[in-house]
Amino acid sequence: MHPFALAFLAALLAHLATQWWLARRQIAHVEAHRSAIPAGFEGAVTHDEHAKAADYACARQRLGVLEALYDTAVVLAMTLGGGIAKLGTWASSLAPPGVPAGTLQLLAVFAVLALLGLPFTIYQTFVLEQRFGFNRTGPATFITDQLKGWALGAVLGGAVAATVLWIMARAGTAWWLVAWLTWLAFTLLVTWAWPRVIAPLFNKFSPLEDQALRQRIDALLARCDFHAKAVYVMDGSKRSSHGNAYFTGLGREKRIVFFDTLLKSLGPVQIESVLAHELAHFKLRHIPQRLAVGAAMSLAGFALLGWLSQQGWFYSALGVPQPGNAAALALFMLAIPAFTWIIAPVLAAWSRRHEYEADEFAARFSDGRSLAEALVTLYKDNATTLTPDPLYSAFHDSHPPPAARIARLRSLGGPGPSAAVSP
Ligand SMILES: [Zn+2]
Repeated sequence: MHPFALAFLAALLAHLATQWWLARRQIAHVEAHRSAIPAGFEGAVTHDEHAKAADYACARQRLGVLEALYDTAVVLAMTLGGGIAKLGTWASSLAPPGVPAGTLQLLAVFAVLALLGLPFTIYQTFVLEQRFGFNRTGPATFITDQLKGWALGAVLGGAVAATVLWIMARAGTAWWLVAWLTWLAFTLLVTWAWPRVIAPLFNKFSPLEDQALRQRIDALLARCDFHAKAVYVMDGSKRSSHGNAYFTGLGREKRIVFFDTLLKSLGPVQIESVLAHELAHFKLRHIPQRLAVGAAMSLAGFALLGWLSQQGWFYSALGVPQPGNAAALALFMLAIPAFTWIIAPVLAAWSRRHEYEADEFAARFSDGRSLAEALVTLYKDNATTLTPDPLYSAFHDSHPPPAARIARLRSLGGPGPSAAVSP
């Protein structure tokens, strides 16, 4: 066996072992705290709600471990098991060699991965989310979502695959640099097109009608010197009762989107404080920082791919006897995550720091206590466990653990939203 194949297997196993170990810690910690509501949340959550959140967290961990095992088996079957090579032979028998056969091979790889992932999506939606009362997706919505997602994936994935393959064939040894620049342009295009073209395929967006709330939001935007084009309400309740709010778009074209489920569960002051938090991610330049780090990481990825695609052992070690551009892309997508998971905790820690900064901003321009109330309601509605295992949380969580976050928000307080909003 080639040393690279051994390193790949060892990395896959290490990832699996880490996921399993952390999940076990999380389950043990959550179960140990199942019957006691943590300090600071008494009166805000009932014993039943606290126990439900614990059961939900544990059920998701158990499914997650099973899914990790399954995903590892799929990656092994596609690489060492010869799946990518077989799809390559199949594609060459149907399409002319070069870009057409390569694109078909990559689309076939995507299709196989999507099909193999389907049982988990179905189980998660119709069994797990259903059992805890979150699912509102009916079979018809589920099937049309899948079909639209597949069509979109085929069009966007096919276009990207064909473009990158064409660049690989034409742009010489520095093809990876050209491909990276093209990738950046594509990312910007999708960011622009998402709210306009793609998101409306899946959900309805209507302008926020509540005038009092709209005035409160406008006052907050003016206070923070922030420009957003429009405020929309999205019919998130069509699929799930989980609530959320987000910003989308670029430059002056930014939009604020509230899930209808969020508007139903929070009061106006709480909604304002949630919005102030989301706004902070723009004002404190978290979004451009994340984009820049993403661009730097994709540059490193393309440079590595440029080098690996020239190495014969990269193919032979991973179950592809015949080197080829499409095989290089497919192997890279499937094999490299076996190594890169190791930086996930660093990114999670960075994200948690941003969350704390955004909370501080919200306390300054809106109200820390209202945001704490809003978060407690959201934790309750989403059955988020209030007692995660510290190590699990440090490794996986993009947001700070609830107890620490709420305590900090309450101590920050704030000027109170009424100070700046005329009655
Ligand atoms: Zn945030």
